[in-house]
Amino acid sequence: MRDIDVIVVGGGHAGCEAASAAARLGASTLLITHDLATIGAMSCNPAIGGIGKGTLVREVDALGGIMGTAADKAGIQFRVLNARKGPAVQGPRAQIDRDRYRCAVREALEAQPDLTVLAGAVEDLVVDEDGRVGGVSLGSGERLAAKAVVITTGTFLRGMIHIGERQIPAGRVGESPAMGLSRTFERLEFRLGRLKTGTPPRLARDSIAWGRLEVQRGDEQPRPFSFLGGGIGAEQVSCHITGTTPATHAIIRENLARSPVYSGAFQGPGPRYCPSIEDKVVRFGDRDRHQIFLEPEGLASDVVYPNGISTALPEEVQKALIASIPGLERAEIRQPGYAIEYDFVDPRELAPSLEVRRAPGLFLAGQINGTTGYEEAAGQGLVAGFNAALSALGRPPFVLDRAEALIGVMIDDLVTLGASEPYRMFTSRAEYRLSLRPDNADLRLTGLGIKLGGIGSERQRCFEEKTGAISAGKARLSALRLTPREAQEYGLRLRQDGLRRDGMALLAYRDVDLPRLAAIWPELGAIPPEAATQIEIDAHYAAYLKRQAREIEEFRREAALAIPGDLDLDAIGGLSAEARQALAAARPATLAAAARLPGLTPAALTALLVHIRGLADAA
Ligand code: FAD
Repeated sequence: MRDIDVIVVGGGHAGCEAASAAARLGASTLLITHDLATIGAMSCNPAIGGIGKGTLVREVDALGGIMGTAADKAGIQFRVLNARKGPAVQGPRAQIDRDRYRCAVREALEAQPDLTVLAGAVEDLVVDEDGRVGGVSLGSGERLAAKAVVITTGTFLRGMIHIGERQIPAGRVGESPAMGLSRTFERLEFRLGRLKTGTPPRLARDSIAWGRLEVQRGDEQPRPFSFLGGGIGAEQVSCHITGTTPATHAIIRENLARSPVYSGAFQGPGPRYCPSIEDKVVRFGDRDRHQIFLEPEGLASDVVYPNGISTALPEEVQKALIASIPGLERAEIRQPGYAIEYDFVDPRELAPSLEVRRAPGLFLAGQINGTTGYEEAAGQGLVAGFNAALSALGRPPFVLDRAEALIGVMIDDLVTLGASEPYRMFTSRAEYRLSLRPDNADLRLTGLGIKLGGIGSERQRCFEEKTGAISAGKARLSALRLTPREAQEYGLRLRQDGLRRDGMALLAYRDVDLPRLAAIWPELGAIPPEAATQIEIDAHYAAYLKRQAREIEEFRREAALAIPGDLDLDAIGGLSAEARQALAAARPATLAAAARLPGLTPAALTALLVHIRGLADAA
């Protein structure tokens, strides 16, 4: 192997995307992870996507990442959540065959030129006198030099599993924790915190009374994640639904004191939006049923994942709890549920490129930054991988802003506001969510990826074909016109104002779609389905999208006002101590980011603005 440009530590969802992204830019990349067999392993639920998360997968795919195509190969039940609602809040999601997914990720990494994979444990970083990170030290004592390092160690930093009163040092069940890197980070004076998350017990498939349970099928026409158009690779199956009972809740209440969630054994908070069943029973005391989805772990697997009952109660209590659930009375537990507590780095240590401010050359991505979820990890991994490669190759960083991508929203939230609890993506976090949809992720991002050099030729061809078909379709529609009277003859009811409307204007009406217009103008039937969907959405939401485009312009003007990284905060007159503290902790990169900090009042922002303008004038 030639000299290493980028070392990526960790073969989870962040690490695989980071390694692939860095190598796609032509950086010679080495991925080091504990165990090659766990590359692409899904620590918790066998599913990818959902509302917000599905958009992240599409964005990763649009930038040439591997999660979308791997999920398409391994998906065994595809559903678009919120399919009846507007396109901005729809969530593509798929149940995943764990083994197939791991294989698909491994194959993608193996097929990537400039990328090598090594099994090993990274214990320390090599840091030069100027504080620049220039490599890693392995558990074996070997040192490896690189121009940039990306750390994506997930839940492994000083990981501690809790099951009832039992505590087991581990990064995941059956895997050792990473201790050395936490000590390194302490030595480098990074701000560290503790967070926790949990997982449900796994059940034996043939011990469940399936016949008594409600069936949940996937979509009749499953839609793949990837814009590459490779289709779906596996047989499609159903999930089943059951729920907790008053008896389940009584068992949980009786044993609350034995759960680390309530016994005070934890230092850090858990994911608010993915709570344990103990949490749900306490927080929603008036409910007598919580839904449970029984999700297959794979086509050939005899293990079932009961989504909705993550727990850290003692094993014997888990057995009683499971037996109180309809259909699970005789269910056998294959692996008990558990909670895990781990170190994370305060993401306010990071610049928007995900480089650690006080340790140039070092990038962090994934759960180590306080997030939760495979998709959130993948999105950060992609950005950190690109930026590590760009830094190694002496090129400027790649930053997505809040108006370009949900990935941009997530990273801006993290580096500006930090993470006081595990951060999960929601569409409601995005100001411009009408523009940041799952359907148009390629139109928003693939062009940027092509400019960067991180997109393969096949994807570029697909993208150009689609954008060409959209432009041609819109041009065709704009050239076709009808008067209201002519429209009436075809059953379209318009205001009888005598004005001729073109095809795009007609498509803006709620009850008009392309098949309806193709009944009038058959040539419209030739527009390819992908392009047709895009044209319909653009026409339906034209007025809102236009308004949002103006808001985005305004945001960009504010965002363009950069705050120097070494700004002397004490030199700014009229700042409250609270505002000064918030700015010192977050070191926002732009005025727009500063505006989102709690404690930054309009007066404080004005003082900051006046000061920065003063500096610019003096320069
Ligand atoms: P991981 O997927 O954890 O990958 C880390 C990788 O780094 C591993 O391959 C590990 O072997 C490797 N590694 C670690 N340290 C070293 C080292 N020093 N040297 C070499 N290699 C190293 N997400 C949700 O959205 N909802 C949930 O309900 C949920 N529950 C979870 C429950 C549990 C018990 C766990 C463990 C995770 C859960 N998650 C949940 C989180 C989800 O699994 C993670 O968000 C996601 O896997 C994070 O991806 P990552 O790439 O950051 O890290």
